[in-house]
Amino acid sequence: MSRTPGATDPPARDTVAAGTRAAPVRPRVPDAEWNDWRWHMRKRVTTVAKARQWIALSPDEEKAIAGAAGTYRWSITPYYASLMDPVDPNCPIRLQGVPALGELAEFPGAEVDPVGDMYYRKTNRVVHKYPDRVIMLVTEACPVYCRHCTRKFHTTDVTGTYFRDDEGESFDEDFRYIADHPEIRDVLLTGGDPLSYRDGKLEEIVAGLRAIPSVEIIRIGSRFPVLLPQRVTDGLCEMLSRYHPVWLNTHFNHPKEITAEAAAAVDRLLRHGIPVGNQTVLLRGINDDVTTMRTLMTELLRIRVRPYYLYHCDNVTGVSHFMTSVEKGWEIMEGLQGHITGFGVPQYVLTTKIGKIPLAQPYFTRTPDGLLLRNYRGQEMAVDTAAYPITEPDAR
Ligand SMILES: *Cc1c(COP(=O)(O)O)cnc(C)c1O
Ligand code: SF4
Repeated sequence: MSRTPGATDPPARDTVAAGTRAAPVRPRVPDAEWNDWRWHMRKRVTTVAKARQWIALSPDEEKAIAGAAGTYRWSITPYYASLMDPVDPNCPIRLQGVPALGELAEFPGAEVDPVGDMYYRKTNRVVHKYPDRVIMLVTEACPVYCRHCTRKFHTTDVTGTYFRDDEGESFDEDFRYIADHPEIRDVLLTGGDPLSYRDGKLEEIVAGLRAIPSVEIIRIGSRFPVLLPQRVTDGLCEMLSRYHPVWLNTHFNHPKEITAEAAAAVDRLLRHGIPVGNQTVLLRGINDDVTTMRTLMTELLRIRVRPYYLYHCDNVTGVSHFMTSVEKGWEIMEGLQGHITGFGVPQYVLTTKIGKIPLAQPYFTRTPDGLLLRNYRGQEMAVDTAAYPITEPDAR
């Protein structure tokens, strides 16, 4: 983690020439700046010239950047850019951060809102799809515009967004809806990334929810621990901890994202009593193999992050090129279940207009004689009806 102190910025490094075997990217910026999330937000990569300070752009990447201009936003924090392989366009970090030609291609069946956020939307920000919980789309801003974002229309499409997004725009209507529906016990702040707001604004939102007696838990969905872990300051964690119970789910997709900085951000959250879970998206060419996924899950456990969901990649306009088959997802789940501890195994789900659908392959079948069980190695064992009756037995 050594950085050359006192050097000026930019450029963070010399322009990388195509085809050169560059030294590992190490930004030459003072620690005070590197550790300041606002510096990263100001210095985000948004142009070809800035991108070249980090990576040798391939011709296809350049074409895609030009093609996406005016259609999709893109932006990469220097922190996340520092994880990119400077020469390999198939680097899993690059594929998540740099536009690709696939985004501009047409795929059959693609929709901007396949999960029906707009249909279930009750106020400017509240989406009420399940009986006891809602999501609140609090912002469209993100530190990095992930190329695979499931809400790409909302976050990344320049014509997009479902709602009036302005810090000054009142939350009263949203809070009132939640207060008027006391069956809502669980509110998930998402977007966009809620931690894009400054602490003071975020505190107003969290305090507003905490003032509603029927709200039991507050959850935050944030990719900052992955895209800009410096954002997760002690001050932020301390503020959030005053509104407990607060939970946070983040979004690691590849073992390369598990860095010392990310681990430190998770540690700060945990020390303030905020449990950290993870939602991974199954992405073609990024993490669609058993080895990568097993490494990701076990590395998450090492930094005390609990895998929660593995999302099948939806057929979202501009994202379809990342889709895998459901069979690929099963293969990966079979490679996790039983091979690593149960709490390292996420639930594989498909997000649809009728809710999240668990895509589990059964490990047992009911037979006339009892149950046929199957273990993680494919071994089978029959157990009989006397031991596993269909109805609760009466004592003789
Ligand atoms: C995913 C989601 C939730 C939260 O679901 P959990 O399974 O509780 O994590 C709530 N509302 C909507 C609309 C969602 O898409
Ligand atoms: S941080 Fe989350 S909401 Fe924002 S672009 Fe990435 S995946 Fe989408």
